[in-house]
Amino acid sequence: MPYEGEFANKTAHVDILNNPDIKTMLEECTYLKPPSDEEAQHLAEQFVDPPEMDQDDIPDFVIAIDGSNYEVSIDEKLPSTKFGFIKVGVILIRLDEFGALKVGKFVDPFKVAALKKKNTALTFFIPSANIKLHGQDNVRDSFRRLLDQQLYNERTRFNADDPRTSLRSTLFMLASLRPGTMGTGDDEKLKIHKCPNCGEGPITVEDVPEQQYCPHCRKEVYPSDCLRLWEEVNDFQSNQTAITRLMMILEHILPAHYIRYFLKESPLLLTNMAFFVDGPLAVFGNAAWLHRSLMIFLENAKRKLSRFNAKPIMMIGLQKSGQVVDYINYVDRFLPKNKIYCIDDEFRYKYMLGGRDPAGKTFGFETYYGQDFIYKTDSGKTFNLLIPYPFSSKDMDGIDFNEEKTKIGNYENLPRALALISHLESDLYKNAVVPIALAHRYTAISFEPGGKVLDLFSKKSLGRENNG
Ligand SMILES: [Zn+2]
Repeated sequence: MPYEGEFANKTAHVDILNNPDIKTMLEECTYLKPPSDEEAQHLAEQFVDPPEMDQDDIPDFVIAIDGSNYEVSIDEKLPSTKFGFIKVGVILIRLDEFGALKVGKFVDPFKVAALKKKNTALTFFIPSANIKLHGQDNVRDSFRRLLDQQLYNERTRFNADDPRTSLRSTLFMLASLRPGTMGTGDDEKLKIHKCPNCGEGPITVEDVPEQQYCPHCRKEVYPSDCLRLWEEVNDFQSNQTAITRLMMILEHILPAHYIRYFLKESPLLLTNMAFFVDGPLAVFGNAAWLHRSLMIFLENAKRKLSRFNAKPIMMIGLQKSGQVVDYINYVDRFLPKNKIYCIDDEFRYKYMLGGRDPAGKTFGFETYYGQDFIYKTDSGKTFNLLIPYPFSSKDMDGIDFNEEKTKIGNYENLPRALALISHLESDLYKNAVVPIALAHRYTAISFEPGGKVLDLFSKKSLGRENNG
């Protein structure tokens, strides 16, 4: 993302802003404007003391997930023939005594460099403009088939011999949880809203290796059609939108993939780790329904862990850009240190969203599964973080979601999350990419599903294994 030099040509930028036609039209638009001192002061007054933090409660492990994507031409002489690829790095960072690289003051720069370059990230190949898979008629169908294959691939499995540990099975689990008629209540079945070929639907498919077909037109259907990414894929133009969407979906279903596995194999490990997700806890676009499944999934996991008297799973979305961050940049000097603000809709719509009216029942009704907080640490670093909503649904009888979501006391994990952020603040603050930021100071291990994940937690490797 171009943080600096976004307007490489400053003169051109000024020229455009001074153009009378542009000026007139801008005057007719609402957008985020620099807040007045009074407004900033008003925000500062909303800040409260953070819940009491327990530094001993900081988890020993952080799992950080970070995706990147590219769309490239196959050859410079064929600029309109493109493919895309997505890399999603999953890094396990150890904050325990073996993890901190505090022998002297020296951090091994080679280890950090190795982590940056590492090719072990989960990589997804995406056919884009003018590229078709053999046997497929168009880019869209090639995209669908290849996506499904890759979600099912051994590389996404925790156990190569067991397809039920694949990322595709995690998608089945999430889709089965959908509320209403699209849910199946059976994690081996999911519904696709309509057949991409004939448009009939919904169609139920099963978590089996065999190719499945539409019962109406007999053409191929794939479980991952439920993400509806194919609707945004076209034959002759860039498919950057679909590629970016897929990357963001992966960033949100991968935590669920790990959590599902740990819940089955070693649930108590979950109480000693935190998941860092890049950006808001929200899913946008045609697959936004996932946010509802994630709410239900996280609540179910919480209930399961509470049976062991264990704390809920800690998940933190860290935002480094976007409207809230832009707003913070304007008002930061007014904000009090060691205080927190749980953003409510009233403030958000009145100030941050340039006076827009609430479109739905609550901010992010169709997309968000977590709540925005602004937290300013003791040393004056301000963070925009998100914590999953403490409810399985935004439509619960007898619960005023709008009100409950802004009660700090409802977020059981917030004290631990703040303790963790404070502990890592200087690393998290300066670097936009969480895994790389933490890899500078702590032992970081590449942590793809295929890599014998549980072994990394065994006594022996905890004592000795220390490189990526
Ligand atoms: Zn059909």
